[in-house]
Amino acid sequence: MKILIAEDDLVNRMILAQTLKGWGYEVEQVEDGDTALKRLTQNDSPTLAIIDWMMPGMDGPDVCKAVRNSGQELYRYLILLTARNDTDDLVHGLSSGADDFLSKPFVREELRARLRTGHRILALQNELIDAREDLRYQATRDALTGVLNRGTLMRRMQEELQRTERTGGALGVALFDLDNFKNVNDTFGHLAGDEVLRQVTKRVSGELRKYDVLGRYGGEEFIALFPEITEEGLTQVSERLRKAICSEPVQFEQSTIDISASVGVSIRYSETSTEDVLAEADAALYRAKEQGRNRVEYTYDTTLHLRKAS
Ligand code: GH3
Ligand code: MG
Ligand code: MG
Ligand code: MG
Repeated sequence: MKILIAEDDLVNRMILAQTLKGWGYEVEQVEDGDTALKRLTQNDSPTLAIIDWMMPGMDGPDVCKAVRNSGQELYRYLILLTARNDTDDLVHGLSSGADDFLSKPFVREELRARLRTGHRILALQNELIDAREDLRYQATRDALTGVLNRGTLMRRMQEELQRTERTGGALGVALFDLDNFKNVNDTFGHLAGDEVLRQVTKRVSGELRKYDVLGRYGGEEFIALFPEITEEGLTQVSERLRKAICSEPVQFEQSTIDISASVGVSIRYSETSTEDVLAEADAALYRAKEQGRNRVEYTYDTTLHLRKAS
């Protein structure tokens, strides 16, 4: 655990640093308020700081106030070091954003106790941040498969469509729907169906580039988004997705389940509504189903790409 000491007086700083090091802390030392502030607003700074009240430049309360106003995500626990202890001073110090006080010259056991409090608060703070991160993650994900949920997927799609305007790049959209999936549930049970959905997202994820996006559109329908892609690239990756999905049966308990998907693929070069793109991809998907399933249908001409591939 690292602690930042901001103290202009050399002797006091050394004594404090030695004490902390003796307790096993790593210590970072600065001599004035401006440097302290700069350090405490960097992401990798110590989360606990002992800050002298009186320093050249910014004083301790100024530093506390500025740290609180800096909008840092990670909480900094700030202990003001002060020779003052009348009530007005304490009120001023606390309202500037300090968490605690330590009077000068400090008493070792008091310092120790105040550090323990600091650690406790920081630990709680971290739990809170983790919990918020978890919530944020869950709010954007599909619980069963871990890919983006419908709401997030639609927002991403809209953003990516807008981005085509700015970058002049294309957005590829592949809508895929598992074939005869109702049979999987009816024959092998709903849990087997769930496992198939998880396996499908795993197989598809394996074919994507890191800036491609995969989300669950509804029951057994998924959408992959391909920013900055060419028609030829989109044709190839769509065929790869289809092949990956049906590459081998899914094993679930004693069952061996053959699966496949039909895919409708569309591409956009400028901003349009998500509904518009989806309607087009859906029409292509419908054709793929009609023509026997386990195939890809496109909204653009692929004769050149397919001729190249064969
Ligand atoms: P098609 O080839 O025409 O797409 O036929 P299908 O049977 O796949 O299509 P249909 O729309 O008739 O059935 C989709 C099935 O997907 C019905 C529904 O119970 C199932 N399903 C939707 N969401 C889930 C889920 O989260 N888990 C499981 N196990 N099944 C689901
Ligand atoms: Mg001082
Ligand atoms: Mg469906
Ligand atoms: Mg289906």
